[in-house]
Parts: sequence; C-alpha cells; structure tokens
Amino acid sequence: MKRRGGLLWRLTRKRRRGATATLDARLYRVRIGLLVGAIVVIAVPTAINLERSRGWRAEGKRIALTFDDVPRGPGAFYTPEQRATLLIAGLRAAGVAQAAFFANPGRIGPVNRADARLASYVAAGHVVGDHSFSHRDLASMPAAAFLGDIDRAEHWLRGRPGYRPWFRFPGLNQGGRDMAKRRAVVDGLIARGLQIAWVSVDGSDWNIEGQTIAAKRAGLGIDEAALRDLYVETMVQSADFSDALMRRTIGRAPPQVLLLHETDVAARYLPDLVAALRKDGWAIVTADAAFADPVYHDTSDFVSANGTLPEALAWRKGVGGKLYYERNDLPLANRLFAERVLHRAPLARTAAARTSSHRRCPVQLHPWRRVCASTAFVTPRTSRLGIAV
Ligand SMILES: [Zn+2]
Repeated sequence: MKRRGGLLWRLTRKRRRGATATLDARLYRVRIGLLVGAIVVIAVPTAINLERSRGWRAEGKRIALTFDDVPRGPGAFYTPEQRATLLIAGLRAAGVAQAAFFANPGRIGPVNRADARLASYVAAGHVVGDHSFSHRDLASMPAAAFLGDIDRAEHWLRGRPGYRPWFRFPGLNQGGRDMAKRRAVVDGLIARGLQIAWVSVDGSDWNIEGQTIAAKRAGLGIDEAALRDLYVETMVQSADFSDALMRRTIGRAPPQVLLLHETDVAARYLPDLVAALRKDGWAIVTADAAFADPVYHDTSDFVSANGTLPEALAWRKGVGGKLYYERNDLPLANRLFAERVLHRAPLARTAAARTSSHRRCPVQLHPWRRVCASTAFVTPRTSRLGIAV
C-alpha cells in the first residue's frame, strides 16, 4: 500500500469538500503542472547525461556475418553446389542483405568449379575478401613469402565483382607474439591498400562441422535437432561473450564480425542462427557497415594477435578475466558434441585435430589459454577425415 502524507500525495490529492471544490480544482491543476515541470527539469537532463556517459548502451548489439575458407570441400550433407544454393537461400530468407565470403583462390580450379559458386554469392548481393591464396599459417613461413601468397590471391580476386580489399589471416594468426613479423605483414597490407578483416566473434564453427563429418563417416547417429541447437547456441553465446568483452575493453559496442565457414551446418541452420541472434537482441548489419567502424582500422601493434579483435585489444589493455569464449577449447566443444548430438561420451583420442589448419598452438601465448586439442570421438580407423579446411 502506498504511503500517504508524502510530498507527492500532498501535491496531487484532490480535495472535493464543499464550496472550496472549484478553487481546489484550480489549485490541483496548478500543482500537477508544477510537478510535471519539476520532473522535466530534473529528469530530462539527467537522462541525457546518463545516455552520454553510457553512449555504448544506445549503440545496441550489431553483427555482420562472414564465411571463411571458400571453397571448402564437401560436408556431411550436401555437395558444394547444393551447399552454396542453400546458403544463398538461407541468407535471403533470413533477410541478411550482405555477408562476406573470404576466398582461397589457390583452392579454386576447373575441377571444383568453385569460381561459379563464388560468383553466385556475389550475384546474391554478398561480397568477397582475401583469405590468402593457399591458406598457409603465418607461423609456417616468413613475412615476405606470406605477402607473396597474398599477392597471388589478390591477382585472382582484384577487379572481380563484389571484391573488397579486406584480408583475413588464415587461422586468425597475425603472428601471435612476434610483433616484428606482424609489423612487416601489416605494413605490407597497408602498402597494398588492404584492410585487416578482423574477426571479433569466434565459436569454432569449423569444429562442429568437422565433428559432424566425422560422425557421419563413422556411421554414428546424429541427432539433427540437437546439432542445430548446439550450433546456434554456441554461435550466439560466442557473440555475447565478445560483446561483453568489447564493452569491457573499449567502453563501447562496435559492430561485431562473426566468423563462420562455408559449411554444411551453416547451409542447414543459418535461418535458425539469424533468428536466434535477433531474439537475443542482435541486429544483422552488412560487412561493409561493420568494417567501416574505426575499431577495425587499427593498424598499430598488439601484445599478441592470434585470435579475435576483442581478445587482442584486451591483451593490449591488460583487461583481466577470460579473453576467449570457452567452447573454443576443443575438448570441451567435442564433449558437448558427443553428449548432446551423438548421445554418447567422446570416443578415442586420435590425431583428427591435425587435419585442421585452425589450431593455434604453434604460437600459443599461454599454456592455459588454449588447449592443443587432440580429442575426437572417431577411432583411428576413421582418423583420416579428409576435412577440407
Ligand atoms: Zn580459414
């Protein structure tokens, strides 16, 4: 029950007694007017100041979709042609006006005819960036050779419809802690007019794809509803992790850039993923809009650059706490996959993880930060997964 007798009550109570009713009604209106005026004078500037001091709150959660490793080999469900058709249809159905596809021209040839699929993405309104010619990790080669690999990719890509001068490092490895090497590469990118196509959200979607392929090849039953839910949940959680880390690190919320790959799981569940992101408060923006934000134009040095942008920024600023989303630890991710999608415990340890070019262990910053995963549910018999990366 409201407490009577307070200032508010006394200002607003309406007297109705006897001959003073008309006068009281006038006084009542005056009091209400004074009260509203006071609220406006006090509350509005306060709200404006609060909004200014927390400007990032007004920016909301925005995210762009990007797909790496174009062209990837076949997945568990579709031919590459079917996959591309489904991806385009899914993006259209979900109302995604523009996603970015990062290509490895060294994997495009007359046999796989992947250039036609790349062209179909562009025809649907999407854009194409550079993911290097041969998808080699910077840790595996000198800076000059790495830049030469980029030049080969640019020779193929530049001038094609939908081209954007964006370079995404294979495996997200910009040299790790080797800042001299990174500097040489980044200066080379600047000289070539290329922008670093940072990823800001990573949920290791490629690993979910790899686990699915391995399960299919091993003849294991796949709970497809659970696969969809795991994929969608993991990507949304990784987006929220990066959102919180970015706000904590730079005090605002630039558009995020979600790393996905040209996978069958993306082709199968993209509309579900976009719906879940929107339900979680995310607005889907174009890759053009995301990469226009100044945070993606920072070419200065970092302490370490081998992962997402919020992680690199947080390392540089000395932000505490966990700096990467937990399901990027493959043993955890694979356990969840086995339990939820296959309804069984993870199987034997194999060398399956060696098939991935996305391992970051060669330049791992801290032993506890990333585990070099060797856990998979496949048996040695099926350890040669042939996963295209
Ligand atoms: Zn890649």
